Amino acid sequence: MTEPDDAPEMRAEIVRLAQALDAAGMMPSKSGNLSCRAGDGMLITPSGLPYAVMTPGDLVWLGPDGQVRSGGKPSSEWRLHQAIYRARPEVAAVVHTHSPKATALSCARRGIPAFHYMVALAGGSDIRCSDYATFGTAELAEATLRALEGRRAALLANHGVVAVGASLAAAYTLALEVENLAGQYLALLASGLTPVVLDDAEMAEVLAQFGAYKRLG
Ligand code: 13P
Ligand code: ZN
Repeated sequence: MTEPDDAPEMRAEIVRLAQALDAAGMMPSKSGNLSCRAGDGMLITPSGLPYAVMTPGDLVWLGPDGQVRSGGKPSSEWRLHQAIYRARPEVAAVVHTHSPKATALSCARRGIPAFHYMVALAGGSDIRCSDYATFGTAELAEATLRALEGRRAALLANHGVVAVGASLAAAYTLALEVENLAGQYLALLASGLTPVVLDDAEMAEVLAQFGAYKRLG
C-alpha cells in the first residue's frame, strides 16, 4: 500500500500549520493534534512529539481501521479523528487544540452562543460543548461527534477544541476563530455586561449571507 501522490504536500502542510498553532499558543505542553484524509485512511501527527522538532517524516499514516501503515505512534486522539472521517464524508481535515480561552470555557462546560454573528462560521447558531470523556477514548470520539452534529467546530468538556473542514486551511482558520470568539465571550461575561444573543431568525440570515459569500467550507 503506497501513500497518495499528494501525500508529501499534505505532510508538509500539517507540520506547517501545527507549528503555526503552537507558536500562537494554541497547543500548550505539546497538546493538540492535526490530521487530513489520505487515500482510504489519514495522515496524523505523532503522539507527544514537540511541534518545534516535528518534520513531515514524523507523521503517521493510518489505514481505515486505525492500523499503522507508516510511521511510529499516532496521536492518542486517532479514534476521534477516525470517527469524524467515518461519520462526516465532507470533512477532509481535523484540527484539535487546547487553545487557552476556548479551553477555559470548556472547563465550565459552556458552549458559545450566538453573542456574535461569526459563531455561524462553525455552521449553526451556536458552538456546543461536548459531554466529558477521558482523552484518547472511543467515548470521547462519540461525545465529540454528538457535539459536532450540524457543525464544523465544538468545545470538548474540560479539554479543548475540535474544528473540521473541507481542507486543512479551513479547519485551521476555524480553530483560530473559535479561540477568538471564546475570548470575546469570556471578556463579555467577565465585564458583567449581559450578552445579547442573536435569535434563530437573525442567525438564519447570517448563515444565508455566508452562503452567498461562499465563506463556508
Ligand atoms: P497527542 O500528543 O497524543 O496527540 O495528545 C495530545 C492531546 O491533545 C490529547 O487530547
Ligand atoms: Zn487534547
